[in-house]
Formats: sequence, structure tokens, C-alpha cells
Amino acid sequence: MKHYRKELWFETKKRREFINITPLVEKCLKESGIREGLLLCNAMHITASVFINDDESGLHQDFETWLEELAPEKPYERYRHNGFEDNADAHLKRTIMGREVVVAVTEGKLDFGPWEQIFYGEFDGGRRKRVLVKIIGE
Ligand code: ZN
Repeated sequence: MKHYRKELWFETKKRREFINITPLVEKCLKESGIREGLLLCNAMHITASVFINDDESGLHQDFETWLEELAPEKPYERYRHNGFEDNADAHLKRTIMGREVVVAVTEGKLDFGPWEQIFYGEFDGGRRKRVLVKIIGE
């Protein structure tokens, strides 16, 4: 069995941002040389997500609105976590959007359903953060 590991680094300018990382993940898969197996992709930070959905800007605005309704950024003092930090909302948003995705690898490609794309979801940006890509198979 072959295995492959890589860290992808991101630094968003905005506090919240969605980035389509599918081309980067596909590059990892190509590099790995693995044709059949499983690919795991996870955020290595507890205020960021990796998730699969549609690359459609309206939907991304809908996510932003929905997440702000569920866990508004402000007022900061509404959260107990915000003693030394101001990112309680980012922890909650990350929990809703998820930590990781697992994608089947078939014939050297990500075995997606229609319109599936992999996104990095940043909820407390402005600093360097990592995503892990781990691929196992043959
Ligand atoms: Zn925190």
C-alpha cells in the first residue's frame, strides 16, 4: 500500500472566506501516484473547515448569512470563550461546516458526484493556517 501526506497553507485577508481547493487536492493526488484508494482532507485548525459543496457564489453568500444567523460574530461579549480571544463564533461555525472530507480515489481521479468541489472554509483568518491531505491506496 502506498501512502502520501502533504500540508497545504492558507492565509486569507478577510476573517471569513471560502476557497475552492479542488485543484490543489487534485495536484496532491497526481503527485501521490495512487490510482485506487481513499483521500482524507482536513483542516488542522479549530476555527477552519474543509467541506464539499457547489462552487456557486450565491450559495456561498447563503452560507455566510446562515452561519451569521446561527453564530453571529458580534457582539463578542455574548460568548464565554471570548475572554482572551474574539473567535468563539469561528469555533461554532467550524463545527457546523465540518472538519474534514473523505473522497474515494478511482482510476487516479477524485470520485465526485455531480458538482462536488472541495472547499477550505476560513472563519478566523488573517494568519497562516494548514490543511492536511492524506492519501492511502495503491
Ligand atoms: Zn478560540
